Amino acid sequence: MERTNRIKVEMLSRSENEAIARNIAAVFITPLDPTMEEMTEIKTAVSEAVSNVMLHAYKGDQEGPIYLEMETTESGKVTITVEDRGVGIDDVQKAMEPLFTTGDSRERSGMGFTVMESFMDKVLVDSSPGKGTKVTLIKSLDRVYGF
Ligand code: ATP
Ligand code: MG
Repeated sequence: MERTNRIKVEMLSRSENEAIARNIAAVFITPLDPTMEEMTEIKTAVSEAVSNVMLHAYKGDQEGPIYLEMETTESGKVTITVEDRGVGIDDVQKAMEPLFTTGDSRERSGMGFTVMESFMDKVLVDSSPGKGTKVTLIKSLDRVYGF
């Protein structure tokens, strides 16, 4: 079996926790020796997923939990899940289309999922209206052994 590492963090959906989440991701993947580009891409994807919970998952000014789980393998595969117990998404396929937003179009560009997809190898979204949403972000780092 390949060696893995795993952490689980629960935080409140407060905007100041976005920076904490992205920095937890950065520290967690550092032992895999990512490139600067990979580091930026993963931090940005986590920020987008976490900010979506803060903006969309819990109604009004309500706060709720964000469950952040991260796993790395020895060969450089990074799997991150961002989960909430919020309102959920009615039509996931539509929500993931570029420029689609249910937010205020003056503030939101509807590009969060598109950014996640461009920076990660795979983005999976599992959501039940009224129950919550789970976003899974997967990326294999380009690692060169022996150098
Ligand atoms: P941007 O990310 O560009 O600021 P956005 O957040 O609206 O705008 P996406 O991140 O692509 O765009 O998300 C698209 C839509 O999916 C959101 O407008 C929202 O309706 C829905 N959505 C995304 N994440 C969640 C979530 N965790 N809970 C409920 N709805 C969500
Ligand atoms: Mg977004």
